[in-house]
Amino acid sequence: MTSFGEVDLQRIFSYIDARQDEYLTRLVDYLRRPSISAYGEGIGEVATYLEQLMTRIGLQTRVMPTAGWPMVVGERLNCPGKPTLLFYGHYDVQPPDPLEAWISPPFEPTIRDGRLYARGVGDNKGQHFAHLLAMEALLACLGELPCNVKILLEGEEEIGSPQMPVVMREHGHEVMADLVVISDGPVDVSGRSVLSFGVRGVLSFELRARGANRDLHSGNWGEVPQNPLWTLVHLLATMKNERGEITIDGFYDRVLPLTEEERHALAQLPLDEAAIKRDLGIQHFAQPRERSVPERLAAWPTLTLNGLHGGYAGPGSKTVLPGEAVAKCDIRLVEAQSAEDIFARVQAHVREYAPDVEIIYQGAMDPSKTPLDSPYAGPMRRAISLAQGQDPLLVPALGGSLPQYVFTKILGMPVFGVPYANADEANHAPNENLEVWRFFQGIKTSVAILTTLAEGIEVRD
Ligand SMILES: [Zn+2]
Repeated sequence: MTSFGEVDLQRIFSYIDARQDEYLTRLVDYLRRPSISAYGEGIGEVATYLEQLMTRIGLQTRVMPTAGWPMVVGERLNCPGKPTLLFYGHYDVQPPDPLEAWISPPFEPTIRDGRLYARGVGDNKGQHFAHLLAMEALLACLGELPCNVKILLEGEEEIGSPQMPVVMREHGHEVMADLVVISDGPVDVSGRSVLSFGVRGVLSFELRARGANRDLHSGNWGEVPQNPLWTLVHLLATMKNERGEITIDGFYDRVLPLTEEERHALAQLPLDEAAIKRDLGIQHFAQPRERSVPERLAAWPTLTLNGLHGGYAGPGSKTVLPGEAVAKCDIRLVEAQSAEDIFARVQAHVREYAPDVEIIYQGAMDPSKTPLDSPYAGPMRRAISLAQGQDPLLVPALGGSLPQYVFTKILGMPVFGVPYANADEANHAPNENLEVWRFFQGIKTSVAILTTLAEGIEVRD
């Protein structure tokens, strides 16, 4: 049994502060290496680079092949009786295009005004590199990690993590842990740090209606064959009403109401609704108008009509009767809806109201939520406060979608999101950047998470 008693965090923080230049140089070396999952550039090289780097730090590391790009998995499990934490991150990056919009080239990391500019610096290399450096610093200062750690770095997050559910159903035992910590995305726009407990899911599909076998003259042929655009308009009108309610049978059946604690956490978010309206140039929010923005994003499913296409929408007029029409839709799902169940309900709805309309599935991710009263929530909050000097905002679920359900639903582990990047990190865009001080604060936060977990919780066998 390894035991450290009270860890002197300030001593480790000083150790980190004394190595800022070295850490930055090493991050720059990592960022110089493209690893673009969209077309495979540099993926294998960076997986090998990480394998060597993690082995040098003292993790048992291997590259795990998948049917797509490989995952890099490391672990150090020398603390019997202590919790095991899994860090999840991704080493692939978005394509850097448009190149001409970058002030400095995407794979030539450059510091300007206290920010490091490079593709992948925030999303996600700088953030998981902070976890690795935290482990290195802890090993240097304490001789051993304070709890058991595993780390999983995948190479396909930016293309939707297609292999994650497949690989985790088969090899999930290799990454099993007491909790998962993900550092990706930005802190709150106010600059406050965030501890997030979940994400919404997403289901994308297309509705395709057909009329005549070609476009026709609306005078010579109007109202002779059915107009597929009208078919879609009528069908879509049966799916959502003017009060903003989605009217697909059973759509809300599984939606879990917010707990008191979640409601309280959402009310604490420093969000200026008047400023949002000004920024978006709108007078009102969509129906139901009285619903708060945080509650909309965390607790309610949506049906978004992404596009409705057919016939002619160019300049001037064209009296055409279209032969085909398409509607693209996405549904954001909340706990405890499932993409499979909701897609079946959409199919049944289309069969009932417009049986000739074809429905084409285009991908899905289930929602994920960890309870705010999880036994690990307290230590996570404490760790963030210790490293950052302020209590984090608690976000029950992010509006967007990430494959966290793989951990919560397939493997049954609680998942916590602790983003390290600035709100204007420009991920997926030109001039992606990370405020340099946030990188160092991230290393300290990872240190605090590992030590606080070790002190705060004894796990049962
Ligand atoms: Zn991304």
